Amino acid sequence: MRLVFGLVMCLGLLACGPGVSTPSQPRPSEMRVSAATQAAFDRWVAAFKPRAGAKGVSERTLTRAFANVRYRPDVVQKDRNQAEFALPIWDYLALTGSPERIAKGKAALRKHARVLDQIEARYGVEKEVVVAVWGVETRYGETRGDIPVIDALSTLAFDGRRGAFFEAQLVEALKILQRGDITPAAMQGSWAGAMGHTQFIPTSFQAYAVDFDGDGRRDIWDDNPVDALASTAAYLARFGWNKDVPWGVEVTLAPGTDTSLAGKSRRLTPAQWAARGVRGLNGQAVPDYGPASLLLPAGANGPGFLIFDNFITLSRYNAADAYVMGVGHLSDRLKGKRAIQGRWPIGDRALNRAERTEMQRRLTRAGFSTQGSDGLIGPNTTNAIRAYQSARGLKVDGYASLALLQRLRRGL
Ligand code: CA
Repeated sequence: MRLVFGLVMCLGLLACGPGVSTPSQPRPSEMRVSAATQAAFDRWVAAFKPRAGAKGVSERTLTRAFANVRYRPDVVQKDRNQAEFALPIWDYLALTGSPERIAKGKAALRKHARVLDQIEARYGVEKEVVVAVWGVETRYGETRGDIPVIDALSTLAFDGRRGAFFEAQLVEALKILQRGDITPAAMQGSWAGAMGHTQFIPTSFQAYAVDFDGDGRRDIWDDNPVDALASTAAYLARFGWNKDVPWGVEVTLAPGTDTSLAGKSRRLTPAQWAARGVRGLNGQAVPDYGPASLLLPAGANGPGFLIFDNFITLSRYNAADAYVMGVGHLSDRLKGKRAIQGRWPIGDRALNRAERTEMQRRLTRAGFSTQGSDGLIGPNTTNAIRAYQSARGLKVDGYASLALLQRLRRGL
C-alpha cells in the first residue's frame, strides 16, 4: 500500500515489494554503524520526540515505541539501491503471474472463501482482485517483512533523502501504536515501512484500514488476514473500483495502426479504438467498458492493452504500470481467464539507471529535451522519445528501449 496521491513507495522500481525477490543484502548485524552516525541518530530521535508530541503522540507512546529503537544501515542501503534496480516488465509479470503464484492464490480463495465473499459483498471488490493484491504484495502473507516499523521509519526520516515523507509516516505509525491496534514489537514491515499482508504505509492505514472481524483492533499483521484483506478492498472501493468492468483487456493492433495514440492521456471509447485498428484478441471491438487508453508496456513490439478506470484505481495502490498489470493479470488468472497472449520482446532488457540517464542526455542534446536527466522515465522523457521517433520516421511508441539508446549512441 502506497501513497494516497499516486506516488509510489517503490519509486520507479518494479521489484522492491517483498512479494518479489530482491538481491540479498548483508544482515543488519553484519553492518557497522559508526559512533558518529549513532550519535547523530540519537540526537535526531531526541529532537523528533517533541515534534511528535506536538502532533498528539503521548509521552507514554513515545517511551514505549523508542525503548528499543535501532538505526538500520540496511534500510538506508535498500533505499539507495532501489532506484538502480529495474526488472523488465515481462520478467516482473512472469514472477507475479507464475504458476505457483496462481496455484497459491486459488488455494487462498478456497481457504478464505467465506470471509472473502463477505468482503466482496460489503465493498464491491471481487475476491480475486483482493487476493491478487495480497499475492503480489507479500505472496499471500509469506513475506510481510520483519523489520520493526519504528526502526525503519526513524532511520529513513533521519537519513533525510525523503525525510519529510518518512517523518510523517513515523508520526502516523506512533498514532497507530497509541490507539492500540498493534504493539511496538509486533508492528513489523518492509524496509520502507509498508506493513502487513497487503503492505499499507501508516498514512494509508490510518485513512483506510478497517476492523472487519470486530475485535476492536485493525490488525493487518496477524496470521489471520481478514482485516488486511478487508482493508485492501475498502481502499480500492474508496478509489472507485467497479466490479462490473475489467482493469484492462488485451488487444491486437491491425497493421499500420498509429502507435503514437498509445498513452494514458488519450481516452477513447472501445468502438473508436476499433475504428483505429485496436481490437480484442477475437478480432471484435472490445466491449464498451467506458473510456479506454491504449497501453503498450513494452512499446510497439510487445503486447497491447486497452485499460479502463479500474487500472487508475489500482494505480492508487502503486503507480507503476507493471505493478498494476501484475495485480490485474493475476486476478484474471485467478478468475480462470487466460494468460497474456502477445509476445514480449524478451531479447531486450530494461535499461539501468545510468543508461536511462544517458538516453535523456543524448535526446536533449539531439534537440528533444527531456527536461533534465534523472534516470526516471516520466512523461517528459516519453514525449521526447515520441518527438525523436516522429522526426526520424520511426514507429512512434515513446518506449525507452535499448535499441533506441544504441541508435542515439550512433548519432542517428
Ligand atoms: Ca480486527
